[in-house]
Amino acid sequence: MTRTTDLLIIGAGPFGLALAAEAQARQIDHLLVGKPMEFWQKHMPDGMYLRSACDWHLDPGNDATIERFLAEQGLTPAAVEPLSLAFYLTYAQWFQAQEQIVALPLYVEKLDITEDARFVAWLEDGSRIDALAVVVAVGFKYFKHLPLDLVSLLPAGRYAHTCDLVDFAPLRGKRCLILGGRQSAFEWAALLHEAGASAVHVVHRHASPAFAEADWSWVNPLVENMVENPGWFRALPQAEKDAVSRRLWAEGRLKVEPWLEQRVLVDGVKVWPETEIARTEVTAQGEILVTFANGATVVVDNIVLATGYKVAIDQVPFLAQGNVLPQLATRNGFPVLDEHFQTNVPGLFITSMAAGQDFGPFFGFTISVRTSARLIGQALSARQHS
Ligand SMILES: Cc1cc2nc3c(=O)[nH]c(=O)nc-3n(C[C@H](O)[C@H](O)[C@H](O)COP(=O)(O)OP(=O)(O)OC[C@H]3O[C@@H](n4cnc5c(N)ncnc54)[C@H](O)[C@@H]3O)c2cc1C
Repeated sequence: MTRTTDLLIIGAGPFGLALAAEAQARQIDHLLVGKPMEFWQKHMPDGMYLRSACDWHLDPGNDATIERFLAEQGLTPAAVEPLSLAFYLTYAQWFQAQEQIVALPLYVEKLDITEDARFVAWLEDGSRIDALAVVVAVGFKYFKHLPLDLVSLLPAGRYAHTCDLVDFAPLRGKRCLILGGRQSAFEWAALLHEAGASAVHVVHRHASPAFAEADWSWVNPLVENMVENPGWFRALPQAEKDAVSRRLWAEGRLKVEPWLEQRVLVDGVKVWPETEIARTEVTAQGEILVTFANGATVVVDNIVLATGYKVAIDQVPFLAQGNVLPQLATRNGFPVLDEHFQTNVPGLFITSMAAGQDFGPFFGFTISVRTSARLIGQALSARQHS
C-alpha cells in the first residue's frame, strides 16, 4: 500500500503535534506518523512532575492552550502546577482533539530520497509513504547518552538508562545506585524510594545542585522572538552562545525542583556528591559491590544511569537505514540547518533537540514547539507557492 502526501511529519510528540496543527492551519496536505506522546508515556515514570508550567503549551495558534483547557474545567494554573505527567498527557490528548490531529501510529523504518528529490518512507507494516517534504521530530529517544568511560566500569546487563527504567515495581526491596546529579537523578531517586526500593544511592562527580525553583521566564521571549529573527542564536558570537547556554544550564542543571527536597532528603536515600566510581564487581551472591575513588563501598542490586541525552543524528534508525544520511551535512553530530530547520537536503527538515546547535539549547524543551512549527510552516508554504 502506498500513500502520498505533500508533507510527512515523522514523530507525534509535542513538536510533531504542534507542526500538524500549523500544517492544518496553513492547509498543507500532510500525514503525521508516530505514536502520539509515546516518549512521555513509555519513557517517563508514572508519578513524574514536569519542570515546565502552563505557559509552555502546544498550539502555534495560541488557541488550544493549557490555560484554556483548564478554564473549561473551571481550574487555574495554580491549581495544577507543578504539572503532573498524567495532567500533561491529558492536555496533549485534548489538544489533538481540538485540532483534529490524527496520527498514523506506526514507525518509519527507512527513509529514502529518489533521484527526482522526492521522499519515500517505508513503514513497519510494509506500507510506504511518498512525500514531497519530510519533517523529522523524533525527540530524545535515539540520543540516550551512555558515557563509555562509565559504562566500561559497570557489570554488563546490570544497568539501565533512565529512558528504559520507568517501571519501578520490580525494584521493590532492591538496592539501587543512580549515577547522575540532575533533575532526573533526583526524581528517579524519589520515585524509586516511594516504590519501595530498600536503599537508593545518588552518586555524582560534581557538587549537588540546589533545591530551588528554576526561573524559565527569560526563555519565553527569546524563543518567541526567533519567529521574527530565526538566525538570532546562530549569529551570536561563541562567547554569547556559551553565556546563553550557561544560563539555561544554571536553571536546568544547577537547580533541582524544590518539591523534590522533602522526598529525597529521607532515610533510605543517600546522596554522594563529588564521588566517582572506581570499579564494580559482582559477588558470588550476585550483588554488585561498587567501590568509589575515595575508597568507600556500597553493595547494590541495580544501577541506573541518569546521564542524559546527546544528539547524534546518525543514530536515528530510519536515517541510518536509508540513503539520506550519506548526503546529510552534519556538525558535532547535529544536522546543519537553515533558518527554517531545513537540512542541506532540500525538503528535509529536522527539529526538536536535534536542532539545538543552530537554534539553541531551548530546543530540548517544549517551549520551542510553537516557534519550530511556525518557522517550518513558513518554509513549507513558501515551497508550495514557488
Ligand atoms: C525525564 C524527562 C523529563 C522532561 N521534562 C520536561 C518538562 O518538564 N518540560 C519540557 O518542556 N520538556 C521536558 N522534557 C523534554 C521533552 O521530553 C522534549 O522536549 C520533547 O518530548 C521533545 O518532543 P518531540 O516531539 O521532539 O519528541 P518526543 O516527545 O520524544 O516524541 C517522539 C515521537 O517520535 C515518534 N517516533 C520515534 N521514532 C519514530 C519512527 N521511527 N517512526 C515514526 N515515529 C517515530 C514517537 O512515536 C513519538 O511520537 C523532559 C525530558 C525528559 C527525558
